[in-house]
Amino acid sequence: MRFATIEERLALVRDGMVIDVAKASRGRFDPDPMAGLARWEELTDWAATVSAEAERVEAGEVEHGEPADPSRFGAPVPRPRQVFALALNYPMHAKEARLEAPSDPLVFTKFPSCLAGPSATVTLPSDYVDWEVELVVVIGPGGHRVPAEQAWSRVAGIMVGQDLSERRVQLTGARPQFSLGKSFPGFGPTGPVLVTPDELPDRDDLELTCRLGDTEVQRARTSEMIFPVPELVARISAIVPLLPGDLIFTGTPAGVGHGRDPKRYLRPGDVLTGRIEGVGEIRTEFRRL
Ligand code: ZN
Repeated sequence: MRFATIEERLALVRDGMVIDVAKASRGRFDPDPMAGLARWEELTDWAATVSAEAERVEAGEVEHGEPADPSRFGAPVPRPRQVFALALNYPMHAKEARLEAPSDPLVFTKFPSCLAGPSATVTLPSDYVDWEVELVVVIGPGGHRVPAEQAWSRVAGIMVGQDLSERRVQLTGARPQFSLGKSFPGFGPTGPVLVTPDELPDRDDLELTCRLGDTEVQRARTSEMIFPVPELVARISAIVPLLPGDLIFTGTPAGVGHGRDPKRYLRPGDVLTGRIEGVGEIRTEFRRL
């Protein structure tokens, strides 16, 4: 299943159509996507029965569906309570950063006010902003002390994300604090939709790519992660209870601008496209402050 947010309302995307969940369920579910995530099992059980209805929508027999227009999609999860992010979770990215691969997950936060949708225009606060395409996990039922074997059952789905990073702020100080440098407005574009794991060819091995203009700058498979999704859910939830709608930015592969010689940061007019196999792509444009 694929869920989008359109004008802050939860929508099911099926067969190229979007179906407003609150209207199609005749009020059983709230329009707020965060409320849907809090009742994830019930929502997906209901959504599984909607296919026949989608056909009726296409046939014009009911009026609550319309053709999907991804340019209207907002962040699928607009207001998570907790956003976790991983540093150095791909070996080749650790190498380009000239750092050792970590023996435990390195977790920081992106403050939720940085989140944006799949067609965002982001204002560059400086000349040192970098790209980081990432698989973003959306927590469904969540839980505390979730064993790795049960982790995927606590996940609602995944999205494409960019962990945009202002490298000067990120790396300032003797003990750098990543969270502020990665939380300027618009620094967390996500989407285009939330895709449930059962839709994916292999939820633990997906190709992810990032293009800057027409040039591919990142390409990897999520199976290269040092700490794969089940382990991240287990290790984070061993300490912090995971709540419905929480996000985990699972780390970026090699190919960021900061790791290049010469370094390449984002400029006004740049267009960044992040893509994950089976999920889709998000497109972020940049402008000057
Ligand atoms: Zn990152």
